[in-house]
Amino acid sequence: MANKTIITVATTGAWPKKENNPNVPMTPSEIADDVYACWKAGAAVAHLHMRDDEGNGTMDAAKFRETVELLHERYPDCDIILNMTTSGDLNATDETRQAHLKELRPEMASYDCGSMNWMNSSLFLNHPQFLEELGKNMQEWGVKPEIEAFDPGMIANAAYYLKKGVLKAPLHFQFCMGCANGIPGSMKNLVFMKETMESLCPGSTWSCFGVGRSAMEMLYGAVAMGGHIRVGMEDNVMYGKGQLAESNAQFVERAVRVIREFGGEAATPAEAREILGLNK
Ligand code: ZN
Repeated sequence: MANKTIITVATTGAWPKKENNPNVPMTPSEIADDVYACWKAGAAVAHLHMRDDEGNGTMDAAKFRETVELLHERYPDCDIILNMTTSGDLNATDETRQAHLKELRPEMASYDCGSMNWMNSSLFLNHPQFLEELGKNMQEWGVKPEIEAFDPGMIANAAYYLKKGVLKAPLHFQFCMGCANGIPGSMKNLVFMKETMESLCPGSTWSCFGVGRSAMEMLYGAVAMGGHIRVGMEDNVMYGKGQLAESNAQFVERAVRVIREFGGEAATPAEAREILGLNK
């Protein structure tokens, strides 16, 4: 498995709209079709966000349910791992941030291991009580947390919850690089995140993504350093400078090429399940 790289596609996120890029999938139907196209292209994990009918981020469990049902109805052969957000609407309650997990029991879900100022405009609140409750619930529901770390302090916070039993080893991290108010996306910082993780939470697996200008550096960095990679329009609506992304699959195809050029292979969902310990 050493040369297998897991590609996660984050198709939609909470913010980009059709005016930012007309190719962002927004409805359950569009997201289901998009996830399938990305799976065909080589993605092993799909990180899902939902939008309401006005296109705003929502934690509405019915939208998650509809998307999963459409995906399974239309594409019964698609075995992609579903990773649902728990942070798709800054105004959602602690309860609605988990309701879809309780009902749908996805294999994975995001776990944002600390609070921060979001995009210089609002508070991204992950209260200690919420994180304790979410961690325990995810264990009970059999949902593996993908620990999103926007800075090294969030890795230390994960180590604390690991010690406390709120999280269970082996952990899987997503290093979110280059977000406003988070750690800037650079190779030096990626090395530091990886080393911090290895010293505080040994035996963990990791993935990363970079927003904006750091996207390619983080892609090549992850592949070179033996990590996994996330791509997609949640993080970047531009494919390159001055070039809007045509689809999420376009990002996945590029990641597959980079991994192959380096001498590796994109992990299949079955291989990703083994790497992440999802079968246990
Ligand atoms: Zn997300």
